[in-house]
Amino acid sequence: MKNEFIFLGAPASGKGTQTKKLAEDLSIPHIDTGGMLRTAVADGTEFGKIAKSYMDQGKLVPAEIVVGIVRERLHKSDCNNGFILDGFPRSIEQAEALEKILGEINNNDAKTLVVNIDTSEDVLIERIINRRSCKDCGAIYNIKFLPAKVAGICDKCGGELVQRKDDTEGVAKSRLETYKMQTQPLIKFYSDKNILVNIDGNREVDQIYEDIKQNI
Ligand code: AMP
Repeated sequence: MKNEFIFLGAPASGKGTQTKKLAEDLSIPHIDTGGMLRTAVADGTEFGKIAKSYMDQGKLVPAEIVVGIVRERLHKSDCNNGFILDGFPRSIEQAEALEKILGEINNNDAKTLVVNIDTSEDVLIERIINRRSCKDCGAIYNIKFLPAKVAGICDKCGGELVQRKDDTEGVAKSRLETYKMQTQPLIKFYSDKNILVNIDGNREVDQIYEDIKQNI
């Protein structure tokens, strides 16, 4: 059985932390569209140049760009045993495009599960502005709730910890608005298909992870 996971959740709901952990445990690829787009921006590719202005404003990058990136990634052979999607789909349009892609790559042996990490809005902004990530390995920290052992240095690889450009309060508010308008409708979209589980995201990282493991 091939397990495909889609993780939904507002910015800073903990999706990134949880999906990285789960992908490692299950030895399946972690497909993070935000991270892939940040790499494209840093590399100065054509897509990266277009994506940058949307990302800086906390808006969704046009679907044709993101869907193209995801299609190419999901067709790679390391996805044959399953994968975790982190940050995709983020709109009904993208969810419909994903159904087509899954039709292209799947036989009858795939099971898709959607995990929605439900986190209250007041904790999200606080988490976003305190979030730091490793420049080299992408590990995620929080200066208040999940600090590195040595401030500014990644516990895992010794890389420098930086704040994402879109983790400022102004952009964070716009990202939350985008989430509510465009991504939240996916909760109904997937619960109508009976493939969605809700996880309470207002807890410690390890408690949330245990809950996810029990539900998958
Ligand atoms: P994230 O790291 O998931 O918070 O994503 C950072 C930014 O990348 C978002 O605010 C969007 O501008 C862009 N992005 C990531 N995933 C998508 C997606 N599926 N569709 C459109 N834009 C995306």
